[in-house]
Amino acid sequence: MQLSEQILALETTLMQFATEFQQLAEQVQKLEEENERLRQQLSPEELSTAKGLGGGQEALAKLYDEGYHICPANYGREHQGGCIFCQEVLSRVTK
Ligand SMILES: [Zn+2]
Repeated sequence: MQLSEQILALETTLMQFATEFQQLAEQVQKLEEENERLRQQLSPEELSTAKGLGGGQEALAKLYDEGYHICPANYGREHQGGCIFCQEVLSRVTK
């Protein structure tokens, strides 16, 4: 492969990255909006008072499983697993 071809290939790869990055950014934007919407629908205070009404703790556990914080400090943000505050919230609502 000649240098000019290599550069061309590199440019193509970079363009693809740029496109993918753009798509990712749009996805993140959508998720942020969705999070905001969900956050307004379900505040942690509402969820803790809803305990025993059914559904609430399941929704929380599901949200946590899907990778979102359910603890008040980071509610609705993505977690990388093992947030002790989320686990505390979960253990409280599932008792
Ligand atoms: Zn958390």
